[in-house]
Parts: sequence; C-alpha cells; structure tokens
Amino acid sequence: MGKILGIDLGTTNSLAAVWQEGESCLIPNSFGEYLTPSVVSFEADDTVYVGKTAKERLVSHPAQSFSVFKRFMGTDQRYEVNGKQYRPEELSAFVLRRLKEDAERYLGELIEEAVISVPAYFNDKARKATKDAGKLAGLKVERIINEPSAAALACRGLDEENDETFLVFDFGGGTLDVSLVDCFDNIIEIIAVSGDNHLGGSDFDKEIAVQFCREHELEFEHISSQRQRIILESASRAKCGLSEEKEVVMKVTDGEFEGQMEMSNKKLIEISMPLFERISVPVKRVLHDGKKNMLDISKVILVGGSCKMPSVQQYLRHMLGEYSLTVMNPDHMVALGVGTYAGIKERREDIKDLLLTDICPFSLGTGIFNAGNAKRTLMSTIIERNSVLPCSHRAHFQTASDYQKYVVIDVYQGEEYYADNNIHLGEVKVGVPLAPKGKETVTVDYTYDINGILIVDVEVDSTGEKKRQVITTGTDNMSSEEIKKRVEQLEKMKLSPADQEENQMLFAWGERLYAQTTGALKNEIGERLNFFQQLLHVEQNPYKVKKWKSGIEEFLRKAENYLDDSGIDWNPADIDSWYEEGDQDDERQEEDRRWYDGHLTH
Ligand code: AMP
Repeated sequence: MGKILGIDLGTTNSLAAVWQEGESCLIPNSFGEYLTPSVVSFEADDTVYVGKTAKERLVSHPAQSFSVFKRFMGTDQRYEVNGKQYRPEELSAFVLRRLKEDAERYLGELIEEAVISVPAYFNDKARKATKDAGKLAGLKVERIINEPSAAALACRGLDEENDETFLVFDFGGGTLDVSLVDCFDNIIEIIAVSGDNHLGGSDFDKEIAVQFCREHELEFEHISSQRQRIILESASRAKCGLSEEKEVVMKVTDGEFEGQMEMSNKKLIEISMPLFERISVPVKRVLHDGKKNMLDISKVILVGGSCKMPSVQQYLRHMLGEYSLTVMNPDHMVALGVGTYAGIKERREDIKDLLLTDICPFSLGTGIFNAGNAKRTLMSTIIERNSVLPCSHRAHFQTASDYQKYVVIDVYQGEEYYADNNIHLGEVKVGVPLAPKGKETVTVDYTYDINGILIVDVEVDSTGEKKRQVITTGTDNMSSEEIKKRVEQLEKMKLSPADQEENQMLFAWGERLYAQTTGALKNEIGERLNFFQQLLHVEQNPYKVKKWKSGIEEFLRKAENYLDDSGIDWNPADIDSWYEEGDQDDERQEEDRRWYDGHLTH
C-alpha cells in the first residue's frame, strides 16, 4: 500500500503529515515551512499560485486572488476570474495539489490517497465537496475525519498514560469546534461535539478593521476591496501582535492614505464582545449533550491559531473557572492527528490497535405533517446528533391525508423545529395503496457512517415495496461526470513551479509593497522588481538570481519595516546601503551592478 497523506485543509493555512517510523510527521513545503496559506491566485495565462505567493498577491491582485473559501465548501458560492468560474472545492483542489506535490517531492514517492480533516460541524454537502476537492487534485479520499477528533488523536499520542475525559477547544481562522473526548485504554471516544462554523480568527480581524475605519471616518463596507484587504491584513497583524505585547499600534498605509490605531487586549475584548459571547454557546452545549459538567473534565486542550489570543484564553478561564488550559502547538495538532489517522488507515503495526470512535455531529431526520400549519412540515429526528458512528436508526410514519398516492420522505439535517429551516439533503418517494389517512404506514431506516454517507431505506409496510437511496450528494455538489470533466480542465492549468516559488513569492511580496507605498519608495520598489524580473526572465542566470535574491529580500524587509515603523521620511539611501555593503572586491558583483544600473536607465 502506498503512503496515505494526512491533510489538514484549513481555512487560513493547510498542512500535510504522514505516519513514519512510529510517529506522525509534518511535511515541509518548498519554503521549508509546515504551514501553507490556503490562498489561491491566478495569472491571466492560467498559471496558479498557491500558498505564500498567493497570499502576497491578495493585496496586489485582489480580484485574482482568493482566501477563506473553505467557509463556503458545498455552497453555491462561485469565484470568478479570467472569465472562468470556480467552486470553493476547485480552489481547495489547488491547495491540495500543492500539498500533494510538496509531499511527493519530500518523500520521493507518488501519493495517490489522502485522509482530509474537516470541521466537525461541516454538513454533508461540505464533506462531499471536500472529497470532491481531493478527486479534483488527483487524490483518492476514502476517509475524512473531524478536525477535533484528529486533534484528540494527536493529544492522545502525547499523553498515553492517562485515562481521562477532556475538552478539545479548536478555534481556527473560520470555525470553532468544541469536543468532549473520553480516552480509555486504546480507545478514543468522541462523546459530543458542538461548534460554530462561522466564528473564527477572521471575525476578530474584521472587528478590528471596522473599528479602525470608525476611528478614521471610513465605512469599511464602502471602501475599495484592495483597501479592505490591506486594513484586514494589518488588523490581523495587530491581533497577532497582541499575543506577544499588551499594546500594539496598528498601522495602515495604502497609497496616499496613512493611519494608525492603538490596540490593546482590553480594547479588543470591548469591540468584539458579541464574538466572545458566541464562544460560550458550544462549550455549554457540548457539556450538556455529553451529560458532563466541568468537574468531570481533566483538562481543556486548546487547538487552532485563534487560541493563541490571550483574550480568548482569558475569556475561557473566566468562563470555565481556573481550569488547566493546555496549549500545545495549536497550529500543528490537527495535522499531526490526521497523520496518525493516515497511519491507522495504512494499518501500520505500531498503531493498528488504536481505535477512534466518532459521532454524528448533527441530527438527521425527516419532515412530518404539521397540523397547526399544513404549509410547513416539522422536523422529526431519526438519528440524533452525537450518536456514535456508524449508526442505524428506525422510525415509523403514517399517511397524513385521505387516499394519498405517495409518501415522500424528505431527508433533513439540522436541529431546527421547522424542517425547512434545516438542510435538505434529498428525498425518497414511494407509492402507497389508496386508503384513509393513518391507515398506510412506512418504515424508515437511516444508516450513517463516518464518511458522511447516509443510506435511507423506506419500506411500505402493507405491500413490502422497498426503496433505497444513498445520499452522498446534495443538489449543489458535483456529479462524477462533472468532476471528470473539470479534472481534465484543471489539469491544463499549471501550478507555478515549486522550484521557483521563492522567487515568485519575493516578486509577489514586492508587488504588494508597491501597491501599499507611494513616492520614492514606490519607485524604488518598482525598479528593483523590474531588475529582478529581468534577471529571472531575460538573463535567466541562476547564479545571478541566487546572488541578488538575498539582496532583494533584505530590501523588501527594510521597506516592510519602514511601513510598520512610519513617521520618518523615506530616504532611499538607507535601503540602498544593502548592496554597497557587499564585497566590493568581488568582480562578479561589480559586473552585476553595472548590468543592474544599465537596466535601470533603459
Ligand atoms: P488556523 O485555522 O488554526 O490556522 O488558525 C488561523 C487563525 O489563527 C487566523 O485567524 C490567524 O489570524 C490566527 N492566529 C494565528 N496566529 C495567531 C497569534 N499569534 N495570535 C492570534 N491569532 C493568531
């Protein structure tokens, strides 16, 4: 069996891991980093950038660059660029392709299969879309695993001795998942999960950005999308800065516009109070559903980038009492767990006895006649949320009108009272003999497994007629023919070559700084970019590229610091010094310099 890749396809960043030599190992990307930003950016010629380079292009090429698409998996959200439309799963497929290629390069073997983690609260459509993303990236995805369950697996690996019950609080860029986990011997049992898949770090970024606009008499919703992104980017930096410092100054430079705002953790809490309040909802619900209280819990494990926020930790302490909060590699936990799960799936000797039992994170049911309002059916739950998977439940229904010809079992997922407020997954229609209402009955079985495949069996009790429907797809999901067609189209699009990624990232970084600056600094950045572009595409001399790269990088870093450290007049000579400090005796450098100067004047 070939290696199975464990993938944490995150809202903000994605990571890959494999089971190797008795442990889960993270795979570095071509920058030698574990985190690949989940950002995709397109060039007019259909070159696709993924990761760090694409993230830089979010500011300089906002119309061609996309992030946070994971939030819309399985919805009808579409992204338009270069006259083509992309689904969220297609954008995710580019990220998966990049991770697959990085892993193949790192491991020196082809990867054909992956396990991908998804937020526990992902509905069926989003799960199906995630599997489709895998297929579009050329990966077989037999298993998906809930992110908090993956985190629990990784925690178990770190703490093998204790049999205990703990909470995993997984707070990422776009989602919050809270799980109640029980560990006993080799069994890791997820008892209950709850969450909010529209609450994450980017909501704090938005609150800070909106506050910044308020203080600068701007209306966030009415400024250009480029300026929105610059402010959001800066807000995110300020938020992350507050994990290190008590107070930070958020600075925004966009062309002629310059502004700053003081931020503190206290102010962050004040402006984001509604977000903090939303955090407590799934925590209370998971304890209630799992029939536990905090006294049964031995620890709370914090996972996900947003758990690094001191204000979040402070709020949890405030809410849960002085509980032991365990923060372990919040960025890596899910990926390490998926890597472990990949090992279990490979049936590796060293973990084959480890058993993870998971649960159904939402209720599944059908709509039934509402005597009070015939127009709106009521939800009748067949599989309750938090049922252990795989599970099968049976229910009986009778006809609601005299002499009705059919019984329609509408399949819904969710917790809402009215059926139509839940997600409609499909329907099964069976004919019944004509009879007064209540005389004809049907037996309905729902069987649901860990991969989100729901089998609905309906039997008419009087005639024995049976109908089965396997619901793996919602109406918005792609059919297998569609996937096949898109795979061919997407394969024609080239991912930017990994061995040139560093150069592309430098260029994208420069482009972003160019977009953010004005005057002399802008011109200087432009000239350096021209020079670098010529080195890359006209000269194509790898020796020179390598040599000048570090200089350009240094230059951009200084320009970035200047932006962060505004208030002094820009003096190009400051930044210029980087190449004058070099080894003047080096003839080649002189030669390069002349070449460079020559190109600047043309
Ligand atoms: P994840 O989805 O787990 O990768 O989490 C990403 C989120 O964590 C983003 O919203 C980041 O802004 C946020 N994040 C990452 N590092 C920090 C930090 N040091 N302080 C506060 N938030 C952070």
